[in-house]
Amino acid sequence: MMRPLLAASALWLALAGASAPDTPRIERVDPLTVQDDDFARHRDPAEWKGLRVDRISFTEERGHWRMWRIANRARSGPLWFVPHDNENAGFEAALVAVRRYGGVIVAVDSGVSPGDDGIRFNRAVEYGPPIDPNRNFDSALPGYARAVLANYRGPGPVIALHTNSPGFDPTDSKCNRDDPKTNGVISIRFCDDTLIPSASQSRAYPFDDDDTVAFATFLAKGTPSDAYCRDQMVGADFNVVQERVLTSDGSASNYAVLHGLRYLNFETQERGLEPAALAGARDRLLWMIDRAIALCAPEVKAAR
Ligand SMILES: [Zn+2]
Repeated sequence: MMRPLLAASALWLALAGASAPDTPRIERVDPLTVQDDDFARHRDPAEWKGLRVDRISFTEERGHWRMWRIANRARSGPLWFVPHDNENAGFEAALVAVRRYGGVIVAVDSGVSPGDDGIRFNRAVEYGPPIDPNRNFDSALPGYARAVLANYRGPGPVIALHTNSPGFDPTDSKCNRDDPKTNGVISIRFCDDTLIPSASQSRAYPFDDDDTVAFATFLAKGTPSDAYCRDQMVGADFNVVQERVLTSDGSASNYAVLHGLRYLNFETQERGLEPAALAGARDRLLWMIDRAIALCAPEVKAAR
């Protein structure tokens, strides 16, 4: 009886050893001088009061990773996760939210060389294509999820923040197929077997934008109401994309529902870097954050 077990565990160790991540290196950085586009928008010391900033770096399998960790030194709270470095309004909203609600931001830093700042995919790879930071929550690569979630203590959920391109590609949609063809699937007007929309009835701000949505992720064996905060957000007339998960696609939302983590994911339309447009997108994300915390995580208190 022992022999197959031993052989199996030896194989497991060999496989695990092949992709074992190195120990993450954590270095304190000064947000006022660090060279990064997200920080360059925030050089006023008042914005960083009470926050501690570290750079986390590690290598796992073919990917070299860098992440910013921005912690509220006084108060624990949600984990604010910004996986896509080109989605600047997500970083902006997280920076307001970590001051308002406490907790820790983890923002993936995919800029790895001068002129390469603020890009979506991690190109710091030993071989193969660039890696989508929101498709790397892979059980074969446990170090990545661990590096992100090691910073999560609560109270409150994990909250991921994204922007997305206007509209969607109706080719694969089962509804609104006559809509103009743009990119992607993130819109309250897209639907298929995985993404089942519950659209805002009033379409009041911020849901006057079809790309401003909250995700509510549930396991295929259950119902949408099983998703964390889903009933409350539908009740509050959010645009809710109900995401049905059968097997993981490697995203944080799929990882969270498969591991029983409380998780929210907010999206708004990408509106670029012009300051008023960026602030507008940030504020749409913050509107959803404020409402969802009040509805579903009242233990998380806003700073007075
Ligand atoms: Zn994103």
